[in-house]
Amino acid sequence: MNPDNEAGERASLLIKTTILTIVFSFTHCYKTETKRTMPGLPPKHNNELSAVNKKSTPKKKKQKTIYLTFDDGPSRLTMPLLDVLDQYHIKATFFIVGKTDAGSLKAMKAIVDRGHAIGVHSYTHQYQQIYATPAAFLYDFARMHDLILNTTGVDTSIYRYAGGSVNDYNRATAKAIIGEMNRRGYVYYDWNVSSGDADYGTTAQSIYNATIAQVHSHTHSLVLFHDTKFKGNTLSQIPRIIDTLQKEGYRFEILDPSVDNQPYIFRVPG
Ligand code: ZN
Repeated sequence: MNPDNEAGERASLLIKTTILTIVFSFTHCYKTETKRTMPGLPPKHNNELSAVNKKSTPKKKKQKTIYLTFDDGPSRLTMPLLDVLDQYHIKATFFIVGKTDAGSLKAMKAIVDRGHAIGVHSYTHQYQQIYATPAAFLYDFARMHDLILNTTGVDTSIYRYAGGSVNDYNRATAKAIIGEMNRRGYVYYDWNVSSGDADYGTTAQSIYNATIAQVHSHTHSLVLFHDTKFKGNTLSQIPRIIDTLQKEGYRFEILDPSVDNQPYIFRVPG
């Protein structure tokens, strides 16, 4: 082969490779976009879950379902709250923060021992710190994840962002953080019903009213409550809320990674 032909062949090979790369990138981007809008887990678990979802979807769609979630515990109200939930034979989901005193560790164990789901909220819950960089977020997340693992034995793969996934502190880093967490196979949940129990001026009655009214507008509700020591009003309304909704035929379930998070994820405006 003379040098000129060789150069020509190389050029033609380069063009072919470039075209293939462009085609592949396009196809790949398209696939990624499609995946992102599809229900279920990140690619890692997609196959197992699509089988699970296929079987359970028809039943789940008809059934009015509520996922009660409690953020920011454990606190001294956690044990009384667990007693209330036991009275009604209801399981809930707790997204917890980093506390290592004996009472908190005991409450954390009780959450798991009594059949509730446990997930990561944040170790420090310091917005400016955890959302400063993806590395800062991952460090905080790992600390909380490991405290749960070491205390309860649960290797949880569900979590909720402090302040929700769309907040004033993570505008610059949310995309990278969510991308990395998805890649690692963790599933996050925002909510579609807010009890308003952390809002200024909230009352026991407003928590009850807000929760019931919003639940009535969905077939599947993921309800946000808080479980700090200041949330006596929340604790006082849980029996009423459960009572009302049980009578109306709602079923209460816990979150696990097979629950499609898409209906409950906040979208960035615009
Ligand atoms: Zn929180």
